[in-house]
Amino acid sequence: MTTAHILGYPRIGAKRELKFALESFWQGNSSIQELEATGSQLRHLNWQKQESAGLAFVSVGDFSYYDHVLDHTVLFGAAPARFGLAGKVLAPTDYFSLARGNASQPASEMTKWFDTNYHYLVPELGPETAFSANAHELLVQVDEALATGSSVKPTLLGPVSYLYLSKSRAEGFDRVSLLPSLCAQYAALLAELKYRGIEWVQIDEPILTLDLNAQWLEAFEHAYARIRDDRPKLLLATYFDHVARYIPSIISLPVDGIHIDLVRAPEQLKPWLHALPSHWVLSAGVVDGRNIWRNNLNETLDILEPVSALLGDRLWIAPSCSLLHVPVTLDHETKLDSEIKSWLAFADEKLIELQVLVKALDEGRDAVSDALSQSYHAAVTRSTSSRVHASEVSKRLEKLHEVDADRQSPFAARRVIQQAELKLPLLPTTTIGSFPQTAEIRASRAAFKRGELNEVQYISDMQANIRHAIKQQEFLGLDVLVHGEAERNDMVEYFGEQLAGYAFTQNGWVQSYGSRCVKPPVIYGDVYRPLPMTVEATTYAQSLTQKPVKGMLTGPVTMLQWSFVRNDQLRETTALQLALAIRDEVADLEKAGISVIQIDEPAFREGLPLQKANWAHYLAWAVRAFKLSASVANDATQIHTHMCYSEFNDILPSIAAMDADVITIETSRSAMELLDGFGEFEYPNEIGPGVYDIHSPRVPTVEAMEKLMLRAMEVIPVERLWINPDCGLKTRAWPETVTALQNMVQVARNLRASLQQ
Ligand code: GLN
Ligand code: ZN
Repeated sequence: MTTAHILGYPRIGAKRELKFALESFWQGNSSIQELEATGSQLRHLNWQKQESAGLAFVSVGDFSYYDHVLDHTVLFGAAPARFGLAGKVLAPTDYFSLARGNASQPASEMTKWFDTNYHYLVPELGPETAFSANAHELLVQVDEALATGSSVKPTLLGPVSYLYLSKSRAEGFDRVSLLPSLCAQYAALLAELKYRGIEWVQIDEPILTLDLNAQWLEAFEHAYARIRDDRPKLLLATYFDHVARYIPSIISLPVDGIHIDLVRAPEQLKPWLHALPSHWVLSAGVVDGRNIWRNNLNETLDILEPVSALLGDRLWIAPSCSLLHVPVTLDHETKLDSEIKSWLAFADEKLIELQVLVKALDEGRDAVSDALSQSYHAAVTRSTSSRVHASEVSKRLEKLHEVDADRQSPFAARRVIQQAELKLPLLPTTTIGSFPQTAEIRASRAAFKRGELNEVQYISDMQANIRHAIKQQEFLGLDVLVHGEAERNDMVEYFGEQLAGYAFTQNGWVQSYGSRCVKPPVIYGDVYRPLPMTVEATTYAQSLTQKPVKGMLTGPVTMLQWSFVRNDQLRETTALQLALAIRDEVADLEKAGISVIQIDEPAFREGLPLQKANWAHYLAWAVRAFKLSASVANDATQIHTHMCYSEFNDILPSIAAMDADVITIETSRSAMELLDGFGEFEYPNEIGPGVYDIHSPRVPTVEAMEKLMLRAMEVIPVERLWINPDCGLKTRAWPETVTALQNMVQVARNLRASLQQ
């Protein structure tokens, strides 16, 4: 008998029930009992789905009211000392304080979970951390699940990954020194679970897919030696990449099985089959937990059948990783084109796929012939559909080598031409694109979407916003203006909706952090741009002013990174298609008289592969995609890009290779870090280090921003500096925005005056 299981289920609910319950509780509109009732309902529903799909276990520990890494912090009594909660049993309000901050303490730092768009709360550990067991919440959930009569497999984040993902503020403190005391708590918890009759615990060690040094590899040996006795069996779960290079270390660990990701890294199956200790189970992650495509079950069986013959009962099958990263169900997708829908599988549908695979392995393919022929049919229609394959696009890609990805002239020459053309002052001021998205703007967009506002009225609303934005910017005295992006609800969706090859779901929500969800669009087919996308709004804005108006585009890497992408062609091929679509838009904007164009790439860095060995390849195609979209511009057109983070140091050569005339970046919160890097590297082109932290409602003072600019001037020649905020202003309100920008423009005036003396 093959064992089917999952590594985790989405917790947010098919209709984002948890989101709404959380937000209502935070606003004081509902009680903790109501919130907990929603939590319990969602867990029971998820277990019921797993049970009826015939999985061997239901999963516990994958549910969370905010974040599962934070839950481990609470579970092991490791709330940061600054919250004053050490040793206390946490009330729900304490838990949410850790997550979201409170009147006296800022929230825990949040960062991306590996290369996903999920964000976890970084544990803050230090020499003062004294772990203690605080397992009540988890055990309640285990008991709840046991009460349903199902077999229960609790999931824990493993001790080494937990420590690795944590941060310490104490200088010179080595987090690995906390391992023995942390493992003592894991051991106690595992003993408790064994006492409850739990047979298997899944222990996630996703950091095994990263580049680990000897110290961290040894930490595994030490950690697992400390939790070897008096416990349920342990399934060591890895995901997001291969772990084959660490096989010698891993197989020496006292665990009882391993889960490997065979979607991201199918090549690791063979080495694992060779190396698998004879008493271990192998959990084969064959159903994609990161993407929404229906599994090609016949192909998967071709892989699994020989493994099943070899391993028998020791073969487990599962999604590649937790299903946290995909939406819940296709059931409520009533508007999706039915053919496209037939190619998709969200979490619920993936459970059924597991069920079919198990049956086929145990009873033969004939036992599931209907399901297999449906899967086959979907695979065939998808691979041949004219919705997917646009011959014009492939022809254009074939001729790509004829397209020059370089600008006409090198930066130095372009700069002279652009200066003559744009006549910008020293330290030009600009913004990143969006202006406040007021309630009226959102209402107007929503009414248009619902069909309550006709196109003429809608366009006139949007033009009124553009007029307002231009007027404000002229009044403020900014140098390069923007139209304000009122028409965009999201920087990827807005373009995706106008490009061929994109589909949109109604409920395809995926948790991003806490109650926040994103609904990534689906790139299902060849991407191209049927019609201009931004020319009308941008030229309208330009018609209202003598100052240059910057056209605003989302770059190819970001379009790719924030979508569910095709799995039937390389990511880089899709990126090139996107690049060509944006290239067409750049050409049209230029033709329409727009002399400054910004191609945003905020997701450029997060596309970096987990393993450094793969960085060079990614950076090469990502840079090429960006350059392809920009290189159509004439020398006189100034190309900007924007990235809203500051960790550039390890990719600076690639950022420079993108060869944007101007790059605007985040720096206000981490001025020194950035400046060192850019200074040392001698970044050649122009830079706008964001001096106004738009994430805060606080209005920055002239002095504070001037200080940042003076620091920037120490490492970057003043002729190449711009003055601008960190990111777009869409989440801010107008009054604070106006005051902040007034101050920002004042900084430019002060510095210009002092430099002219
Ligand atoms: N142009 C976009 C804006 O201003 C950029 C957003 C981003 O960097 N995430 O909103
Ligand atoms: Zn940004």
